[in-house]
Amino acid sequence: MTDFSFSLLTGETGPLVKGARPDRLRVPLQGHRPVLAEGDQVLAGTLIAEAGDDRGDMHAPLAGTIRAVDRFAMLIETTDDGRAEPQAAPSEGGDILRRWLRSMGIDVRPLRRAPVLIVNAVPPEPGISIHDPLLRDYRKTVDLGLDTARRVIDHSRLFLVAARGNRANAFADCTVVHVPPVYPNGLDPLVVRAVTGGETLPGRHPDNAVILSVRDLYFIGRVMETGRPVTQTVMTIAGQNRLVHVGTPAGFLVAEAGGGVEDGDHVILGGLMRGIPALNIDQGVDKDTTGLHILSKTRAFVPVDGPCLGCGECERRCPARIMPGMISRCAEFKQFARTETFHIHSCIECGICGYWCKARRPLLQYIRLAKYELALLRSAIVPADTPANDQGRSRPADTRPEKNDA
Ligand code: SF4
Ligand code: SF4
Repeated sequence: MTDFSFSLLTGETGPLVKGARPDRLRVPLQGHRPVLAEGDQVLAGTLIAEAGDDRGDMHAPLAGTIRAVDRFAMLIETTDDGRAEPQAAPSEGGDILRRWLRSMGIDVRPLRRAPVLIVNAVPPEPGISIHDPLLRDYRKTVDLGLDTARRVIDHSRLFLVAARGNRANAFADCTVVHVPPVYPNGLDPLVVRAVTGGETLPGRHPDNAVILSVRDLYFIGRVMETGRPVTQTVMTIAGQNRLVHVGTPAGFLVAEAGGGVEDGDHVILGGLMRGIPALNIDQGVDKDTTGLHILSKTRAFVPVDGPCLGCGECERRCPARIMPGMISRCAEFKQFARTETFHIHSCIECGICGYWCKARRPLLQYIRLAKYELALLRSAIVPADTPANDQGRSRPADTRPEKNDA
């Protein structure tokens, strides 16, 4: 276990620092279909990949030449300036504005009509303070983002949720709700529960409310101000908040922050509880990356694939009140459909269970694996005569070797 604070208090934060221009960008393409190929030239803002859903199209963050494309990422060798022409925002609201925002790289999945709009200003994880400089120094942009979102959502009540003790100036006509400044209170399902009292499954939208972060509003406001697509993210790196080009390699950011990575260190994209370890230091950040941490090999808490001790510690700590130990056992033995009987979809992916696990099992990773496999099963085209799985649901036969049950 590493030294770790669950506090979401951010204290005094400095101004937002603009990240430098890397020589190469590796733009993640998950959920997108590339529309350009190796050898093509791009300007900053050129459309490079279309989204398969409402998560927003992808545009080149900087001018350059595409050097490689695969299904995971597009490698762009950057050159000096060169920007695509700005586009005028539509004067209409509703679906027309929503479609335009989507084409400008905004994830519009949360943007739909609802009676309640919740602005989440609580830090998503300890050590991440991205909302503070946006609320303090870019208030006009955030306000414009809020006005724009309102033209789509058409809500009647507005709430701002902040961690008690952190600075968060209210918007006009909004009700401020404070939550204790302790992780995981900034995660969307818990913020929605703090306002509406209702519980929402992760990845699903609450029926009666829309939740947007301060960061979401900032990028919507930027698109409206500039007429240029979203090609950056805001990240906390070594306590400093930075505006970073999407696709900037993790190693470049580490060097820019004055750090270094040695063999065996872990580079975490995101927060320490929910972040994803970078595959290598060339991996580029995406639009949702909010932080970067380095865990040195001497301090890193390395999970092991040991057996569950049945101690119940993970259940006692789980804010979703489910049984992470049982879910992990099902996932470990590829009984993915069975994880649903233990309410896997109620997991908000906070990572707290894995933090406290006595056996150091990678519980969050098992849960994410099971959710991924369940999504694959659901999306598979299943012939009518396919044998039923362990819950009576049809699915393709799994031909991979099974682990022996314990
Ligand atoms: S990650 Fe673990 S502790 Fe958090 S909600 Fe999911 S099962 Fe519960
Ligand atoms: S904390 Fe770890 S060892 Fe204990 S029941 Fe949960 S998964 Fe098993």
